[in-house]
Amino acid sequence: MSKLRFRAVAAAADRKPLEVDAPKEKFSEYYGEKVFNRKAMSKYLSKETFKKMMKVIELGETIDRGIAEHVAAGMRMWALENGATHYTHWFHPLTDSTAEKHDAFVEHDGNGGLIEEFSGKLLAQQEPDASSFPSGGLRNTFEARGYSAWDPTSPAFIIEDTLCIPTIFISYTGEALDYKTPLLKSIAAVTNAAKDVCGYFYDDVKKIYSNLGWEQEYFLVDEDLFAARPDLALTGRTLMSHESAKNQQLEDHYFGAIPQRVLKFMEELEYEAYALGIPVKTRHNEVAPNQFELAPIYEECNLAVDHNLLIMSLMEKVARRHFFRVLLHEKPFKGINGSGKHNNWSLTTNTGVNLLSPGKNTEENFVFVTFIVNILAAVYKNNGLLKASISSATNAHRLGANEAPPAIISVFLGTQVSDILDKFENSTVKDAIVADEKKGLSLGVGQIPEILLDNTDRNRTSPFAFTGNRFEFRAVGSSANCASAMTALHSAVAEQLRVFKKEVDTLIANGKSKEEALYDVLKKYIKESRSIRFNGNGYSDEWKEDAKKRGLDCETSVPLIFDSYTSKQSIKTFENVLTEVELHARNEVKWETYTKKIQIESRVLGDLALNHIIPVAITYQSILLQNVSRLQEIFTDPAKFKEMAEEQLRLIEKVSIHVNAINAKVHEMIDCRKKANNIASEREKAIEYHDIVAPYLEEIRYHIDKLELIVDNELWPLPKYRELLFIR
Ligand code: ADP
Ligand code: MG
Repeated sequence: MSKLRFRAVAAAADRKPLEVDAPKEKFSEYYGEKVFNRKAMSKYLSKETFKKMMKVIELGETIDRGIAEHVAAGMRMWALENGATHYTHWFHPLTDSTAEKHDAFVEHDGNGGLIEEFSGKLLAQQEPDASSFPSGGLRNTFEARGYSAWDPTSPAFIIEDTLCIPTIFISYTGEALDYKTPLLKSIAAVTNAAKDVCGYFYDDVKKIYSNLGWEQEYFLVDEDLFAARPDLALTGRTLMSHESAKNQQLEDHYFGAIPQRVLKFMEELEYEAYALGIPVKTRHNEVAPNQFELAPIYEECNLAVDHNLLIMSLMEKVARRHFFRVLLHEKPFKGINGSGKHNNWSLTTNTGVNLLSPGKNTEENFVFVTFIVNILAAVYKNNGLLKASISSATNAHRLGANEAPPAIISVFLGTQVSDILDKFENSTVKDAIVADEKKGLSLGVGQIPEILLDNTDRNRTSPFAFTGNRFEFRAVGSSANCASAMTALHSAVAEQLRVFKKEVDTLIANGKSKEEALYDVLKKYIKESRSIRFNGNGYSDEWKEDAKKRGLDCETSVPLIFDSYTSKQSIKTFENVLTEVELHARNEVKWETYTKKIQIESRVLGDLALNHIIPVAITYQSILLQNVSRLQEIFTDPAKFKEMAEEQLRLIEKVSIHVNAINAKVHEMIDCRKKANNIASEREKAIEYHDIVAPYLEEIRYHIDKLELIVDNELWPLPKYRELLFIR
């Protein structure tokens, strides 16, 4: 067996579960100990500064310089006492990861020495050299500066020796260069619009919260096996390998006993997550071998997004301590399930009402129906955009691949809620809405049980499903920043709620009663958005046909899907969140990233095919050839020889066919890349990579995987799926 593969397989088989030191305290006691949270703030800030900070966090008030100075002083003291020596502005550029540049807490003391220093100015704003972050042309390199500005709504935290301060990242001219800036604006947009609509029903709602609970799927592989797979190491997925005879067909992994080695990894990850104030709750095996899931309790959306990014980087760190590598790619292995992220989303009021939950009474049910109908309308109008918000070169392998929702956005409501909407649509205003002077408006049609949670038919094939008291956006990719999907969703719902409010107010101004106005507009929306509702099997081919007829966006080419970001509707949708200039610039980044991902995969596959696979196949063929010549010497009778060498001759021919095909296709692919690289427009280039270059990856893989079945197992250089996939 190939030396590297042999060593890796042996090392992986030998690994024992690692013992992890459990913290001495209960979870609740060290939860958040590395976070400058309320508890820490109340201890390290003056009463007055603390009060002001609470207003900033809870009510979105702005921070003045004086307060920033006080907070910086308190934060520094806390950080130094907790072992930090450095600080960084922690932000989310338009790449797959987070960015940080560490500075030590030191300044000259004026007497030739150093003192620990950290001013309000440094806390509030910094200017990292932004020239190497993607900006889509918003920033010429000679005006490379961008600046990061403190986001006080997400608390600072300590990782190892560094105080990390969550920040937004914008260009000098004010355009967003990151995920957080538009996310925060979209949260403001949707919560304000929802608050205004709540005004029809309640007079005590002062603030709305957007909540996100993400479920993160991932794979683990042994570190040595990972290192023996250059494709995994460089692209995050296996570009070749035949399916294992056994994979997920017995369904014996899902919710099964977690392997000890993995359990130890999970325990340590949980300890670290709790210390960072991330309320992780659920862990289990997923469907595919080596696939797992982690989910926290939901939190306010901005914080939840930061926590998801933190967890992803924490996972990588902790995995390495356990001699694993974590794979966040959406489709690391062909033929078994890929990984997603389910974004569970709800809106709640400061008075404790979940606007997406059927209420305790018919008044709350009317609010519920109002929001559900508006969300339906928003998803309907923006279905292409929502798909664009979750699309990427990597997620494309998962969507539509018969395990995840197709590349079409639809909404699953379940039979109970669907029935209510149907009844509403077919009723008169008198039946649908009951107006009571004291109690306000309530829903007249149908009873909605308060807790649908346990009995909703869980439709696993829907990309956007109602699950009893929230929507679950399931099409999000496992490696994605949740902010992209949430920003689009918030903006879509915000715009829809604004339009709704305007239409209802106009009818009222024209003399209709409030209930008539609400009834008319809601009924119209139920009718108009009917085609987004789909309760059937999203994996079926009939659905693809049906969806086309309904006029839903069925585009499957990722570079073309991105066009939805700059449609007329999207520009309206993103009002107050992203300008048209920003939308265009961000698309440039998306196309460029798409091209680069395919380009890297294509190069890696070409190199491996030429340097790993073809030489090994030829070596094996030479062994066969030697065998055939010897047979010919011994069996001089041509008929006898033919009989004895039949299988060898067949294999020799097959090896040649596959080797020639691989060689020819790799060179064609290289030529296609050269041609594509000369295209100036990022959009056209990405389209060329999608249409012309990417198909070669599958074609070349086909021949390599065939060779894997032919070539002597002892010679094969790369760990096979059966070796990569079954952690014991
Ligand atoms: P599932 O059955 O889909 O696995 P879970 O009960 O495990 O669902 O919850 C998945 C995620 O949804 C968790 O992060 C959970 O906190 C979150 N969640 C539950 N209720 C809400 C809600 N009202 N709003 C937002 N997220 C929620
Ligand atoms: Mg779920």
